Amino acid sequence: MIKLKEFEVWFVTGSQHLYGKETLKQVDEDSGKIAQYLNNSAKIPCEVVFKPVVTTPDKITNICVKANTSPKCVGLITWMHTFSPAKMWIEGLSILKKPFVHLHTQFNQDIPWESIDMDFMNLNQSAHGDREFGFICSRMRKNRKVIVGHWKDAEVVEKLDVWMRAACAWNDWQGMKVARFGDNMREVAVTEGDKVEAQKKFGYSVNGYGVGDLVACIEKATASQIDDMMAEYKQTYKMNFSKEQMDSIRESAKIEVGMRAFLDNGGFKAFTTTFEDLHGLVQLPGLPVQRLMADGYGFGAEGDWKTSALVRAMKVMAADLKGGTSFMEDYTYHLNPSGMKVLGAHMLEVCPSIASGKAALEVHPLGIGGKADPPRLVFNVPQGNGINVSVIDMGNRFRMLINPCKVVKPDADLPKLPVARVVWQPEPNLKTAAAAWILGGGAHHTGFSMALNAEHMIDFAEMADIEYLTIDENTTISDFKKDIRMNEIYYMLKNGLV
Ligand code: MN
Repeated sequence: MIKLKEFEVWFVTGSQHLYGKETLKQVDEDSGKIAQYLNNSAKIPCEVVFKPVVTTPDKITNICVKANTSPKCVGLITWMHTFSPAKMWIEGLSILKKPFVHLHTQFNQDIPWESIDMDFMNLNQSAHGDREFGFICSRMRKNRKVIVGHWKDAEVVEKLDVWMRAACAWNDWQGMKVARFGDNMREVAVTEGDKVEAQKKFGYSVNGYGVGDLVACIEKATASQIDDMMAEYKQTYKMNFSKEQMDSIRESAKIEVGMRAFLDNGGFKAFTTTFEDLHGLVQLPGLPVQRLMADGYGFGAEGDWKTSALVRAMKVMAADLKGGTSFMEDYTYHLNPSGMKVLGAHMLEVCPSIASGKAALEVHPLGIGGKADPPRLVFNVPQGNGINVSVIDMGNRFRMLINPCKVVKPDADLPKLPVARVVWQPEPNLKTAAAAWILGGGAHHTGFSMALNAEHMIDFAEMADIEYLTIDENTTISDFKKDIRMNEIYYMLKNGLV
């Protein structure tokens, strides 16, 4: 289980000595109250840790060094209650490796029209103090989120929540291990990419393992482990299979026991499979993959390590939120002009966290891969808002595509479709969304979530410092093409800019 409360966000307030002890004491007290308020809010996913006000370059640098080396700290909230001369922040910001958000708030919500005097003016200066801090961040080309509003404002808290979730996912990627069972599907382009660059840029490592290594783990599964797994299936799903298919389910349970052992022993948080490389496996793992995803593992089919890592990041961001997150594929279209939509699915591997109600455990033949009939969970997905996200390797940079969608009811039941399915209408409509996605080079695989929105992914992309393109209700193809062209130049020049 992913527990975001185990992670800390440090609340760091800047000031300077000029104001005197009394004012600085007040700054400390006020900042403490804000940090405490946020920490007590049910909307805030992490522990907000108040840090005493920083007033000198040494103190600022020191807190940044400590943040970098704290395994629990996923990022900083920065705020200038008073003016804090920003040259003091240069060293600290230049070494800070954790993401930060600039909370442009003020202790008081209203101007006390009747009582306001120069003492008040001396203390409550974020309107200009935060601009000085903003300047140095921009001067240093620092990616950060700027949130404006009173700290009790529900929208401010919501934006902090989104940012913290992204920061937790970013932290999770640092040092993350992705296991690739087998390699890429032969000749497939989009699932390839530069794994060395990904490790430099994203912090996670991707390594391949022979399917035989996994099979050796599966062979160690004991009868009682398999029985326990079967009992769990019985309790969790509708058992829609015949007695003759029981052996197939038991085989799947055995594969699951082995896969879990392999991933646990190796400390992996994400993995990929391929159906071209199944030596020694009786079935292509369907149900085990679905259940591992439901437990928070990232997954990408056909060797798709970028999507696997992305699904894991989205799972971390979505922890405890309503709505699930899954590996997904744009499978087939409904192109009727009365309402165009996408049917999203995969051969087997859709996460039951997005299911409406109890999923059905079924066994059906798989026309590809040449292995025994694999069990899988079959289900529909409730209506609501969702997003599809893809990360691709453009050769000189990684690009993220983000496309919000509306999940709708299928026009009719799909009684013969033996896989989990989602039907959605992409923003702004299928024609524009698909054209933009294709022009942007977005993969056929995505991370799909009904718990997250575009803002989560934008915050995350900015922490990763990668290109992102959103396709939403404001997208037009001509503007989208312009963005792509501008970005081409921007990213080519960017490394020489700072
Ligand atoms: Mn696929």
